[in-house]
Amino acid sequence: MAILGLRDPAEGDWDHLRAIQYAGLARYAILRVVTNLVLGLLVCQLFIGFVPAWQLAGWMALLGASLYFPSILYRRSGMVNHDHVARRFVLQLVAATGAIALVWCVPIVAFAPQAGEIEQTTVWTILAALVVGGTLLLNALPLGAFVLNLVLMGASIFAYWQSDNLVTVGAIVCFSILLALSGFENARAYLMFKMSEHGLAEKDEVVSLLLREFEEGDADWLWQIDASRRITAVSPRFAFAAGREASEIEGMPFTQLIAGKHWESGNLPPSLHILSDKLTKRESFSNLVVKVQGDERTCWWQLSASPRFDDSGAFIGFRGVGSDVTESRENAEKIARLARFDTLTGLPNRLQLTEALDRALKECEQWHCRCGFLMIDLDRFKSVNDTLGHLVGDRLLAQVSLRLRSLMGKDELCGRLGGDEFAVVMRDTGDGQRISDLANRIIDVLSRPYEVDQHTLFIGASVGSACGTRDGRTVETLMRSADLALYRSKDEGGGRHNVYEPQLHSHAEERRVMEIALRKALEKDEFSLAFQPVVDAASESLIAFEALIRWSNPEFGQVSPSRFIPLAEDARLVVPIGNWVLHRACREAVTWPADVRVAVNVSAEQLYEPDFVETVVEALSETGLAPQRLELEVTESVFLREGSRAGETLDQILALGVGLSLDDFGTGYSALGYLSKTRFTTIKVDRSFVQGAANGMQESIAIIRAVVAMAESLGMSTTAEGAETEHEVRVIRDLGCKKIQGYYYGRPMTADDVASLFGGQQTTLYG
Ligand code: C2E
Ligand code: MG
Ligand code: MG
Repeated sequence: MAILGLRDPAEGDWDHLRAIQYAGLARYAILRVVTNLVLGLLVCQLFIGFVPAWQLAGWMALLGASLYFPSILYRRSGMVNHDHVARRFVLQLVAATGAIALVWCVPIVAFAPQAGEIEQTTVWTILAALVVGGTLLLNALPLGAFVLNLVLMGASIFAYWQSDNLVTVGAIVCFSILLALSGFENARAYLMFKMSEHGLAEKDEVVSLLLREFEEGDADWLWQIDASRRITAVSPRFAFAAGREASEIEGMPFTQLIAGKHWESGNLPPSLHILSDKLTKRESFSNLVVKVQGDERTCWWQLSASPRFDDSGAFIGFRGVGSDVTESRENAEKIARLARFDTLTGLPNRLQLTEALDRALKECEQWHCRCGFLMIDLDRFKSVNDTLGHLVGDRLLAQVSLRLRSLMGKDELCGRLGGDEFAVVMRDTGDGQRISDLANRIIDVLSRPYEVDQHTLFIGASVGSACGTRDGRTVETLMRSADLALYRSKDEGGGRHNVYEPQLHSHAEERRVMEIALRKALEKDEFSLAFQPVVDAASESLIAFEALIRWSNPEFGQVSPSRFIPLAEDARLVVPIGNWVLHRACREAVTWPADVRVAVNVSAEQLYEPDFVETVVEALSETGLAPQRLELEVTESVFLREGSRAGETLDQILALGVGLSLDDFGTGYSALGYLSKTRFTTIKVDRSFVQGAANGMQESIAIIRAVVAMAESLGMSTTAEGAETEHEVRVIRDLGCKKIQGYYYGRPMTADDVASLFGGQQTTLYG
């Protein structure tokens, strides 16, 4: 019944199947019309002379009209080239076929009796040809062929029955039944063939799509939508990807599924607009990544699809493949983030900072405004990192970045350049005051104490700033300008802000020239030694001199060691210079009374030299100074370099009988651990604590007390550095320091002055 078009079974999309079935109908339409007309003319030819001409002409006209009728039906229904054919249309076509059949009844029922038996047989033969041809050509419309058969053969039976030709009637009945059965079988086979052909084409399309996707990447599931973009034929994998039941999404608009909770708000992501656009334009697309807004989580799908058209070229929707690319997408985002953010602090990194600065500079060019670039360097961070470990250092940096971030306004971006260097880009600075204000706030906030892992850490910050486009038109020049300003702040001891000035370029240049001069200073004999007395705190008697290097250069004049020693360390000149100091100091000291010792400062770089101990031995043997009269001063920084054998070297020196003092104690976050490892002779408490204690600062007093107590328990001596006033001396003495060094007892003096001091063999300076 379904094949005939008399009933729609519950399962299967028969409207669609009929469309496949009747698609072939139009193909033979012309042939059918032509055959009908030719056969009609043959009939006219047959009956001319028997039947009045007007009857024949009238019949021909009727035949023509009935043949024309189906084409009107086709056109009116608008169902041509459609993927769905309603049953009503089929019945109309059958009716039209029935009408043609009725017209064909006329020759056998009305014309033949007017002629003879031969004519009747000929007409029947023509009708039989018509029915056979119809059955063969109307595969697509089996009911039509059936009606044609029924009507024409019915009429023939009626005619032969009238002429009592019962044998022929029986033959016609058999013929008709056989023809109907074979026609039906034919129609069924035809439909099956069409269906499998269509299915194959569909499969073909899918297979090629899948293959293509497979080659290009991995597709996970198929999806399909109809012409109105509703999801059809949901596969379990697709439903799984959508995180829903298949029944839930079947028939749901595809874009609604993707938009998720944004569907109602209409606030759709850009990727969905692109998808909608493609669907509207019926364009195929490949590897389109769309954001899918689920109820709980957002994911990303990569979709490829092509529009589908039926045999007649009508658009019937899209079919494609998709895969969940959330993970790779998230990874890509992470990588993109990594490229632009500092992992440790989460602040923008150098790349992002330079980009921001570049944008700010361009804005300045355009609007004639000013932008600022601040470079920030942490003071004393290195010693925290080196003494307390990188973990503490990292946590400290994280806290620094939090504080820095809290200071940023809306037009300011801070980031980390690397190490302990940070920077800020200010987009519109107005006058220079805003830069200075921010710089001072940064120094103030970053210099407050930090609590990290039960340690209270004190670090400071130095800032250098430059103003675009005045101090530089490009990112590079502006950064260099800020860097020079920062260098100056560091040079001045840190905790300061300096604005870039053109002279700074000359300072940097000066440093370069100074380095060249320093290289030649030794051969030109520009160095000399000054000796500063160290006295016993209780008796105030002179017990030692500290040798302090002096450099006088024709171009730079008197240069302070705190200025050129770091330069010499950077330029790896400190080793020959240090050797010279050691030899010269020993040579002077042999001329002094035997109970006066000499202290020589040794830089960490010297200590790392593998032959340092030999150098010391050589200096002692060459000058004949007793090892007990020499004391080497090192700072905590000697312990900082990992893998260096500083500890061993110090032990070897102690084994020679040479004394060892720990200089500037308290400025480098002493991890105290190495105090028990290396048996220092003396701990020198830094001048800042001496000053603090004299000013009544409890913290400084506590530290000096602790150091004195600890030194005593370890059998070490203590020296207080930089005592300038009587008050300071008294405070130190009361705190229990064993030795005192400072302007109060004597400034560094020349070797000649020391010699003349000993001229009278007097070893007490005061009292
Ligand atoms: P240091 O070893 O801590 O030397 C003490 C510094 O404090 C000296 O400065 C000294 O002049 C200064 N000073 C001493 N008493 C007072 C005082 O009462 N008030 C004030 N304000 N300052 C006082 P100087 O000579 O400028 O040396 C600075 C630093 O340079 C030294 O600090 C030492 O670390 C380094 N240095 C000096 N000579 C040498 C050397 O031959 N080799 C090495 N590697 N470093 C040296
Ligand atoms: Mg010293
Ligand atoms: Mg010192």
